[in-house]
Amino acid sequence: MMKSSISSYKKLMEKAKNLFILESAAAIVHWDMETKMPPKAIRLRSLQLAMLSRIGHKMSTDPEIGKFLEEIMRHPEYDRLDTVQKRNVYLIKKNYDEQTKLPEELVAETAKQQAITVDTWKKAKAAKDFSMFKPELEKLVDLRKKAAEILMEVKKTATPYDALIDIFEPKMTAEAISRVFAELREGLISLIRKCKTAPKQPDTSFLKRRVPIDTQRRFAESLTEFIGYDIKSKEAGGRLDETEHPFTTGYYDDVRITTHYYEDKFDSFIFSTLHEGGHAIYEQNLNPEWIFQPVGTGCSSGFHESQSRFVENIIGRSREFWIYFLPKFKELTGGILSDVDLDRFVHSVNHVKPSKIRIEADEVTYCLHIIIRFNLERDLFADKITVTELPQIWNQSYKEYLGVSIENDSEGVMQDTHWASGLYGYFPSYALGNIYSGQILAKMKKDLPDWRRQLSKGNFHSIKQWLAKNVHSYGDLYNPADLIKKIVGEEINVKPYLNYLYEKCSKLYDF
Ligand code: ZN
Repeated sequence: MMKSSISSYKKLMEKAKNLFILESAAAIVHWDMETKMPPKAIRLRSLQLAMLSRIGHKMSTDPEIGKFLEEIMRHPEYDRLDTVQKRNVYLIKKNYDEQTKLPEELVAETAKQQAITVDTWKKAKAAKDFSMFKPELEKLVDLRKKAAEILMEVKKTATPYDALIDIFEPKMTAEAISRVFAELREGLISLIRKCKTAPKQPDTSFLKRRVPIDTQRRFAESLTEFIGYDIKSKEAGGRLDETEHPFTTGYYDDVRITTHYYEDKFDSFIFSTLHEGGHAIYEQNLNPEWIFQPVGTGCSSGFHESQSRFVENIIGRSREFWIYFLPKFKELTGGILSDVDLDRFVHSVNHVKPSKIRIEADEVTYCLHIIIRFNLERDLFADKITVTELPQIWNQSYKEYLGVSIENDSEGVMQDTHWASGLYGYFPSYALGNIYSGQILAKMKKDLPDWRRQLSKGNFHSIKQWLAKNVHSYGDLYNPADLIKKIVGEEINVKPYLNYLYEKCSKLYDF
């Protein structure tokens, strides 16, 4: 590599680093808004976030980035850049091209409309009135369609919707997703039927017993300790706080998670803490040499979900996990669960029951909620259906896929914040994450055949090491389709995930 190229690359990486630092500052301001901020601070906090976002947009569309990129790519020694350097250049170029092609007016108008649509969504949801929400949603969808058409040109995707999917799952297409989802849907529907008609059904009533919040907090701390997510020591790089909706923010040495405690729903904090903890350890195990570089981030939204769901479901809902933890949880909660044995506990936290609300769905029915949303988004952005038709198609799909009747649009099409927030193309990530997690489990079983025994003895360390080495440390070095191939040796495949669910449910339900 010749000197001029080195200097342009170095300058480019300096710009990337500054942007990462700015974005991490914005993340902390946002975290504060959700966790610790006194109510009166909302106006100032909003101004701070808007300003940071404006500065960030300016920095990422800085013409100097374009100049450095051109110098690097045109350089005769370009080919001698290593894989990591080339990937950094690719990722910066991708982001730069996309950001600079979107007219500033469209970006600003979309941001404004998003705020209005979220606000209207909250009111319409409370009033159970879709007609209130509809005009604002239509405006936002139109704005995102405009952006998707522009991004389609830049990203060279086949359809506008593919350009939106690419934001969250690079290079994934609606066509490929439709194919894997069709197989997933069929497998899940048949599994749900088997669970429903099985003779052995769980008595889940104990899940409503009241467990004091302080006790829940103490158990949440032992869960973070178990997965090696440090929130206590002097070297800690994590925090656990409380919010209405749990989330994870930050990366490397400052990764924070939140959970929510319900006195009469103690399973909620257990699985949300494990879920967010799974996101957190992914971020903490990224290659430390790559901090402030584009390769030093998670691979995609789908991959992120694969890691959170791995810890939440594959680990946290396994029998072995509870062989270790149930005696401890019983002791901590006094006599509250003294009559609940391991079988009943494990079956109850894996209870398969079709429901109306996605965030309350069990592991087996969850993906059907996602497939319904994906079909609607795909058809909406292909102009096959209109916003007006969404509630009716939604309700039909819930009847057909899950056998449940939606009584009003608040428990139907208006239940999630995603569409009100302008997040189209994001939903598939949740199900893709589940599919990846099944493939990753199948591979891990070969490398760590006694992982279940280790788990039952309270040892998560070797599983974590395996995930860090085989998944986390790759960061964003590859696109998701290449990363899954690199990890498991084959393309995205629904079967391992379905097999994992069948195996678990057949034991629990005895079929
Ligand atoms: Zn998640």
